[in-house]
Amino acid sequence: MQTNTIRFSCVGCGVCCKGRLIPLTVSEAEQWLSRGHDIAVILEAFNESTWPTTSGEYAHSAGRSVEVLCGDTKIRVIAIFAGKAIEQCPNLRPDNLCGIYEERPLVCRIYPMEINPFIELRKEEKVCPPEVWELGEILCTDGQADPALDALITLSRQADKSEAQVKVTVCAQLNLSVASWKGDALAVYFPEREIMLNALLSLKDTPDLSTCKWKVRVDDATLRGRLEAVSLTLDYSEKNNYIFHSLQPHSS
Ligand code: SF4
Ligand code: SF4
Repeated sequence: MQTNTIRFSCVGCGVCCKGRLIPLTVSEAEQWLSRGHDIAVILEAFNESTWPTTSGEYAHSAGRSVEVLCGDTKIRVIAIFAGKAIEQCPNLRPDNLCGIYEERPLVCRIYPMEINPFIELRKEEKVCPPEVWELGEILCTDGQADPALDALITLSRQADKSEAQVKVTVCAQLNLSVASWKGDALAVYFPEREIMLNALLSLKDTPDLSTCKWKVRVDDATLRGRLEAVSLTLDYSEKNNYIFHSLQPHSS
């Protein structure tokens, strides 16, 4: 039977270390901040209207989220901590190699494989030059990652699940409490480095999320109406502590 094997050999061009946010585990975020670098926080919200609750997509997102109250309605919130590498990663050396190679984050070790099981690896969507796909080690076969890489992907998914509560709690403590609706938009915060680091270092074991007044920011007018009809509290403020970026083709 013919198999679809993808080989990969990184050429060290450094392009994947530029112009992006790099998702981090909690300990990686602590290290990132301790090195003097900034992180971004992305908050995403969804509920059972986003996918059927019996679907794999719902189970995947539910596992890495926390149930909170928004208005009178329960929603689920995912918090993503990400290293700020919008121009380029602060760890990238002038020769385009990683300055913390032995300690680089899990996602850097996993790239260009996908962590989300519902996103297929598409070479054409990766920033790597074309020649990387012709030689080197086997990256995946029939969509299944090489065992060593697969172990890293599993670790990353486990961290997403086990750390969901901690991340959402830190956000609540720092008043980062408006989440964008998944698939509709992005709400991105850039908390002050020392404040973020202190919040991570002084985290309580038994967080109380019930006092946080969660809100949702939505771009699409139809979606806004649908969510308000089930008593979610939406954020309409013009002055806010996050950057709002629509994912809609035509902003309403
Ligand atoms: S930590 Fe290293 S591998 Fe990861 S984005 Fe930064 S420079 Fe690149
Ligand atoms: S863009 Fe691809 S080839 Fe270039 S450094 Fe990143 S992983 Fe390697």
